[in-house]
Amino acid sequence: MALQIEQFMCRADNFGVLVHDPQSGQTAIIDAPEERPILEAIERTGWTPTLLLTTHHHGDHVEANLTLKQQFNLEIVGPEREKAKIPGIDRAVKEGDVVRLGDRPIRVIETPGHTSGHVCYHFFEDGVVFTADTLFALGCGRLFEEKPPVMFQSLKKLTELPLETVVYCGHEYTAANARFALSVDPTNSALKKRATEIEHLLADGKPTLPTTIGNEMATNPFLRWHDPVIRANLGMEDASDAEVFAEIRKRKDVA
Ligand code: ZN
Ligand code: FE
Repeated sequence: MALQIEQFMCRADNFGVLVHDPQSGQTAIIDAPEERPILEAIERTGWTPTLLLTTHHHGDHVEANLTLKQQFNLEIVGPEREKAKIPGIDRAVKEGDVVRLGDRPIRVIETPGHTSGHVCYHFFEDGVVFTADTLFALGCGRLFEEKPPVMFQSLKKLTELPLETVVYCGHEYTAANARFALSVDPTNSALKKRATEIEHLLADGKPTLPTTIGNEMATNPFLRWHDPVIRANLGMEDASDAEVFAEIRKRKDVA
């Protein structure tokens, strides 16, 4: 039986997610942005959480760690490099470590950039990855703790996942990201089509996530450093991939 996933909004624009393994009956929470909507999702689904997978230390991802731990006695997993900043952490993980939800393996992918210790959680047998504030739909996280070449390598790692991999992200930033993406890649027909779909989803009050690695590689400028049209638009035909990425990130910061 397939993994079951419940996605919902927290705070202003954070996503909360519950991941349920029907075989074992176990449930993981991906990040804990806000207690109340998470409790409502637990109530709605009837899934009792046993595991909390923390991607990074920012307050809008760990706020409810301690209260959820108190109520459900769940195990909190988080990045080794940020363990001092993750409330209630029980198990620190690093690149390649495998955590389990029932029998399902979850591989830890270190993706420094947004923060130095940020990790993504890859349910590789299910083809689902949780990228939090590293990769967004049509965007990527701001570089608070690392320089562009570090984030570039992290995003590159994500592009090596199978194209059909389903991607859940930390925030609903897609509308603003689409506007920026069109400014650097205005003739990309897949991007234009997607921007229209996004408008419709948001007008209907629906989330624009999840996405897929393949969809992002076709439309997300932060993964399209190799693209000759984007390079020409930036006047960077001969630059390295990492330089093109850095320029796009810089433009987004001031957009
Ligand atoms: Zn963050
Ligand atoms: Fe965040």
